Amino acid sequence: MIVLVLVRTEHRIRRHSNFFSTHEFMENFVRIIGGGLAGTEAAWQLARRGVAVELFEMRPVRRTEAHATDQLAEVVCSNSLRSDSLSAPAGLLKAEMRQLDSLIIRIAEAHRVPAGSALAVDRDSFARGVTEAIQALPNVEVIRHEVESIPDDGIVILASGPLTSPALSDALTAKLGEEHLYFYDAISPIVSAESIDMSVAYRAARYGKGGDDYINLPLTREQYYRFIDALVAAERVATHCFERFVPFEGCMPIEELADRGKETLAFGPMRAVGLIDPRTDRRPYAVVQLRQENRQQTLYNLVGFQTKMTYGEQRKVFALIPGLANAEFVRLGSLHRNTFINAPQHLLPTLQWRQRETLFFAGQMTGVEGYIESAATGLLAGINAANLIFDIAPVVPPPTTALGALLRYISDPERKRFQPMNVNFGLIPPLSVRLRGKAKKEMLSRRALADMAAWLGELDGGASGVDGSDLANAEKLDCLIHGETVIEVQPFRNEGKAVVP
Ligand SMILES: Cc1cc2nc3c(=O)[nH]c(=O)nc-3n(C[C@H](O)[C@H](O)[C@H](O)COP(=O)(O)OP(=O)(O)OC[C@H]3O[C@@H](n4cnc5c(N)ncnc54)[C@H](O)[C@@H]3O)c2cc1C
Repeated sequence: MIVLVLVRTEHRIRRHSNFFSTHEFMENFVRIIGGGLAGTEAAWQLARRGVAVELFEMRPVRRTEAHATDQLAEVVCSNSLRSDSLSAPAGLLKAEMRQLDSLIIRIAEAHRVPAGSALAVDRDSFARGVTEAIQALPNVEVIRHEVESIPDDGIVILASGPLTSPALSDALTAKLGEEHLYFYDAISPIVSAESIDMSVAYRAARYGKGGDDYINLPLTREQYYRFIDALVAAERVATHCFERFVPFEGCMPIEELADRGKETLAFGPMRAVGLIDPRTDRRPYAVVQLRQENRQQTLYNLVGFQTKMTYGEQRKVFALIPGLANAEFVRLGSLHRNTFINAPQHLLPTLQWRQRETLFFAGQMTGVEGYIESAATGLLAGINAANLIFDIAPVVPPPTTALGALLRYISDPERKRFQPMNVNFGLIPPLSVRLRGKAKKEMLSRRALADMAAWLGELDGGASGVDGSDLANAEKLDCLIHGETVIEVQPFRNEGKAVVP
């Protein structure tokens, strides 16, 4: 039976004396902390399944150093949600989110601005669109309040983002232990293994300790100086955007180390001591070390190469490293303020905390990187929080999907030295056929979308008629996106039985 609810859009910003008591006795009730990309997507997924939500957002009561408005889902830096093409991993993730009926993608499409193959948005109208859509949901209450501790009871989704307020960060540190909550990224670039020229490289660990764990790219004196000159001259990201903290010595950007003197890197992250090249039996002048990034050995990171060079410059400068002339960068380097947990130690792939099944994490906090990735984790946290309420086992999409692969990556307990990750094709298990370039990426995407559709079909046993191509709610949301004040909500219930995609 389909239930339709008609309500008027209204602002519901309330003041409470006790912020955690409103729905104390309700069963179908989830608290979400943080009304960003992840929190709003989670709220939407819960609401459309008939679950009541209290969504806590601290702005405008307390501001962050990057948000400029009091709107929900404000995009704080670029207005691009990256590629919309199926030959790009961000495009695949968006396509999967469409299959899962993402609010963020729908509203982004309604407020898109021309940007080639990327999905870019008018930032103000996008945030306003999400805010209005969420506030119009009859079973979502938006509460403007800074949450300072994590509620001990009930189902909670923590989605307070990279700029989580200090009080909540402290509460989280107390819960997880201070070595499990991080406050910045120092991200080194990652390349796909197949794009490294192995005729130039050799495998070795320093002084033979660790067998052949590292791939080493040797540089002659001449190659090293050419690289340093390009590094020092390269354009850097303006300080008003991603550079939001003073890094300590251990995570200095390589170009800033190079500014100190031509030899600094040769004595630092590029030192070749203990790394004899077996082909020449000599120590190279300098070395770039690549460390394995995933179990499948499809990805390698450039050790110690965190950087604030612009993305374009990174591609140019890193191409000067022997062996990387044609490298495919699945992630480029960056340094920025970010609050995230040591997800491999704390999260299940369902986004539940390993020590409490009713506490979910979503968004940048989980160690994913990017607007779309953050929204996608909010989406799954919303689905799984609803599943808990309806006594259904939490789910994870197949490993062949972009979302499934990303969730498995961040929650792999074997992972050491965890750093946030963008979605990328290197996370997805290889195809059984050998393809290269665009053909391979498109085939990976086609397999992912087919597997996601099959998974959706299996989940609800066909009971709701929801499958990968289902857009049942599209028309109803459309009226909202286009600024009307009436919304119809169709909870995913089928004769008393909860139905999940
Ligand atoms: C300055 C900056 C620039 C970035 N630029 C980009 C970019 O250009 N492209 C990209 O793909 N990614 C970018 N990112 C990374 C990331 O994708 C975004 O931060 C994204 O918004 C993360 O989504 P989220 O939902 O996890 O967090 P957010 O969107 O930040 O949402 C979290 C919300 O929680 C609220 N909150 C925090 N603490 C509390 C509390 N105690 N109680 C209640 N509410 C609280 C915040 O006010 C915020 O609204 C950037 C990150 C930062 C910090």
